[in-house]
Amino acid sequence: MRFLTLIELRDLDKVYKTGKLEYQALKKVNLNIEEGELAAIVGPSGCGKSTMLNMITGIDRPTAGSVTIGGERIDSMKEDRLAAWRGKNIGIVFQFFQLFPTLTAHENAMLPMDFAKKGKVKERAEIAKKNLELVGLGDKLTNLPSELSGGEQQRVAIARSLANDPMIIIGDEPTGNLDSKTEGRMFDLLKKLNGQGKTILYVTHSKELAKKAKRNIKMLDGEIVEG
Ligand code: ADP
Ligand code: MG
Repeated sequence: MRFLTLIELRDLDKVYKTGKLEYQALKKVNLNIEEGELAAIVGPSGCGKSTMLNMITGIDRPTAGSVTIGGERIDSMKEDRLAAWRGKNIGIVFQFFQLFPTLTAHENAMLPMDFAKKGKVKERAEIAKKNLELVGLGDKLTNLPSELSGGEQQRVAIARSLANDPMIIIGDEPTGNLDSKTEGRMFDLLKKLNGQGKTILYVTHSKELAKKAKRNIKMLDGEIVEG
């Protein structure tokens, strides 16, 4: 198999400024993620894991250094182009799912396509249905989030992250709110997606979940110390 560098962080600094206070959350971080990797990011609370993910998704920008994904410089991309780029190329799964409470599972799973104005509405509905079937929720299309368990809600969030068939899936503690059995099932699902070619990067506090990843990237005080 030929591996290509998909995500490249070079000498990445992030300094947060709050009034007169400055806090350096990332210190000259260098990282290469190859296409098709499944990697876990671990480290104590406050060490900069979410900050680093936010640099990769372009949710926030670095103070210095570069973020190159699939050959494109994300850190210097203009805001509207960046939003479109993110919607197309990155699926994001959050700890608290962030589903719209008034929309059904099916409607939630369609949203990224609606934002991207992808294809016809009928096609969006078909793709969302297919993705919900993939995560094992084909029989819960019309359920509201409140009518789903935590694990099911997270599966809807994963189906939603797949909407635009992104090359990368990013999870910030995606199983942080789930019991260990549900967490295991969630990992199996991520592994299946990885097997289908998705590059997957997730933050976890779970030793079990970290052990299952092929690669662990350890962070401490704003630096990558291992992996
Ligand atoms: P982790 O995800 O590893 O728990 P974060 O990346 O969220 O850590 O935060 C790293 C450090 O940066 C922490 O000390 C946190 O308090 C600080 N930090 C994060 N976001 C901000 C912000 N928007 N403004 C100021 N400080 C922040
Ligand atoms: Mg975090």
